[in-house]
Amino acid sequence: MQLLKPSYLKHILVTVGAVVLLLPMLLSGRVIIPVKDATFKDWNRNSFWHYPWGKSGVHKGIDIFAPIGTPALAACGGVVVGKGYNNMGGNWALIAGAKYRLYYYAHLQETAVTLGQVVKSGSVVGKVGDTGNATGKQPHLHFSVLSLLPHITKWDNEPQGWKKMFYLNPHELISKSVTTLPVRHHNRSSVSG
Ligand SMILES: [Zn+2]
Repeated sequence: MQLLKPSYLKHILVTVGAVVLLLPMLLSGRVIIPVKDATFKDWNRNSFWHYPWGKSGVHKGIDIFAPIGTPALAACGGVVVGKGYNNMGGNWALIAGAKYRLYYYAHLQETAVTLGQVVKSGSVVGKVGDTGNATGKQPHLHFSVLSLLPHITKWDNEPQGWKKMFYLNPHELISKSVTTLPVRHHNRSSVSG
């Protein structure tokens, strides 16, 4: 068997490096509601960093309530970098996306993505469920956004407040994305009279 020549290896490393570094810059940072047909009424906007919260101490995401089996959608485009099962998150998927952020989807009834899969915003990640520590509770999608780059100004005095440099508030990200959509102008006839 012939070993890879160093020049080829360098080529591969440069290509992989360029994709990993450039892709997050090219992708849109717009975050959509990651559950099909869900609205702002389907989660508690104050549940991010709720304390005390189970084993993890604070709630590092939002819970979007929906019937079991509702499609869970990619909040933005990216690459599936992890999936699995654990006692807390149940069936989970992790997608690396725009702005060097990781998007975490948990308590899924089942996942519908494979490792390394490239997903678009709105692609189906799995089905909303009640797996992991959501068993016996109302089915919901736990959604967290983890920034690999620290947002130092977000550090505050709340419990585990330093972790806010990394865990971003999904409610804020979704709200910001929705309000930055092009404004629809009213038809003149609808405002006259
Ligand atoms: Zn949760």
